[in-house]
Amino acid sequence: MEFQVLTLFPEMILEGCNNSILKRATEKGLIQVEAINVRDYSLDKHGKVDDYTYGGGAGMLMQAQPVYDAWIHAVNAKPCGGERNDVKTAEASKVRTIYVTPQGRPFTQEMAKDFAKEERLIFLCGHYEGIDERVLEEVVTDQVSIGDYVLTGGELPALVMIDAISRLIPGVLGSDESAQTESFENDLLEYPQYSRPEVWHEKAVPEVLLSGDHKKIELWRREKAKERTQKWRPDLYEKYAEREKTIQCLMKHKKENAYMIDSLLTGKARLLHSEGDAAVAVSVAGNAYQICCETAEQGKRLLRYVPKEARLVLHNCEALNEILQEEYGLKVGDECYQSVYTQHVSMPIAHKDIRLYPMEAIDYAVENYGGERERKYLINRIQSGEFFAAYEGDEIAGFCGVHAGGSLGLLYVDPKYRRTSIGSSLASYLVNLSLSRGGLPYAHIRIANVASIKMQEKMGLYVGNRTVFWTYRKENA
Ligand code: SAM
Repeated sequence: MEFQVLTLFPEMILEGCNNSILKRATEKGLIQVEAINVRDYSLDKHGKVDDYTYGGGAGMLMQAQPVYDAWIHAVNAKPCGGERNDVKTAEASKVRTIYVTPQGRPFTQEMAKDFAKEERLIFLCGHYEGIDERVLEEVVTDQVSIGDYVLTGGELPALVMIDAISRLIPGVLGSDESAQTESFENDLLEYPQYSRPEVWHEKAVPEVLLSGDHKKIELWRREKAKERTQKWRPDLYEKYAEREKTIQCLMKHKKENAYMIDSLLTGKARLLHSEGDAAVAVSVAGNAYQICCETAEQGKRLLRYVPKEARLVLHNCEALNEILQEEYGLKVGDECYQSVYTQHVSMPIAHKDIRLYPMEAIDYAVENYGGERERKYLINRIQSGEFFAAYEGDEIAGFCGVHAGGSLGLLYVDPKYRRTSIGSSLASYLVNLSLSRGGLPYAHIRIANVASIKMQEKMGLYVGNRTVFWTYRKENA
């Protein structure tokens, strides 16, 4: 991942990234950090980049011109040494540009996860009173604050964000450093931890941690995490409790609500509002909404939490389709049955050789799953590490994957290997993966795909009676 930081103090950025885990990640080529000095783009012979603010008031402001020119340079430059681009105006570029500012959205772990999906990010660090509003309007895509206090410059906030984002990039943390069970996962703080010696200052390590009973240890940790969240971060605990309560209610109709239950359990979506067995949530990436409801009235009430610019709404209430089309410009793209694996035990897998799908074999996946129009999506799935191939010797015999929304699918078996255990092994592999992540394994099957519905039922998944609707912006449907 590439980070480019527009700053008046490039040494601060470079020095900040030149230690510990970030240094190792840079050496391994997992991240590249380039600090671009805005002063180098000043047209003033003394390198001046700031001036007084119109309307009076104390303090200087960073001017638009040097910031803009430095940004154009950043967009066109390639820190890892690839081809230079030739973008001349702000409209021509789509590079995500973050202005760190106390006025921005408060930075969270969820946002870090979202940014970590990008291949490249540009950070803009202000100084003095900040930056001329006009250039912010042109180049900035996100405004982010690291907390409700005012610092002298944006370098520390940019470093904070680069650190939090980098550690989520696969390979940056070593096997003994994990980002899996940390504070803020599922709205809980992390449980207390202990290392050697067993007794220190007459304080013994809690006995359960020495028991070797993993189930008991997991339960103890969960209880402790809840306890301390309730005590130290009641605001967070309230969110946790509300989400848990909603999941319990939605569980009463697992087959109808699987998509939302799974995304709430795995932290892929954030609950916006719930009323008993109905709820509305938004994906962590922020542009896909989900509604689960039992009645049209509930659905209409929940729709109030979905902004008109939403690009995708997934729901299980036919009556909403007309409103979504007329008021949101969203059209039904797919109508699907939902199949759910309701047990907690892993499925047996007959065919053992299933591995991550290799990018070199992208053409095979494209050819056999939707053709060229799916190439970009399939590349994205391979990069996500959620797309797998079953091998027979060196040959790919089939593939499967987790869709971006969380449903299991993308299943294909080479004609040579149909009627073998490959297909069911791939499907079981995905079910087990979902269980291991604490999710509810489910798939969405287009209503016309009778063969797939039958296969799911044969495998022991339950297919619900109600369908779910994927509604998209017209141009994407
Ligand atoms: N006048 C600005 C205001 O009141 O919003 C504050 C300017 S601050 C002194 C200078 C720069 O530091 C900002 O432009 C921003 O880049 C950075 N900065 C200060 N506090 C920050 C925070 N809490 N989060 C992110 N960036 C911050």
